[in-house]
Amino acid sequence: MESACKICKRLVEGSECPVCKSKELTKNWKSIIIIFDPDCDIARKVGFELPGKYALKVL
Ligand SMILES: [Zn+2]
Repeated sequence: MESACKICKRLVEGSECPVCKSKELTKNWKSIIIIFDPDCDIARKVGFELPGKYALKVL
């Protein structure tokens, strides 16, 4: 199971977030959102700037 970065909410497979280099990861997350196009309305609304998988809720 992937972990979610507590800073940018990106889903990460290793032990470090590749985007913000944070090691603050948690398995305590819910609801996946997949961003294909960071320019779309949803991505802008939630503030995700790179394509990828993100957790909507990080506990
Ligand atoms: Zn991150």
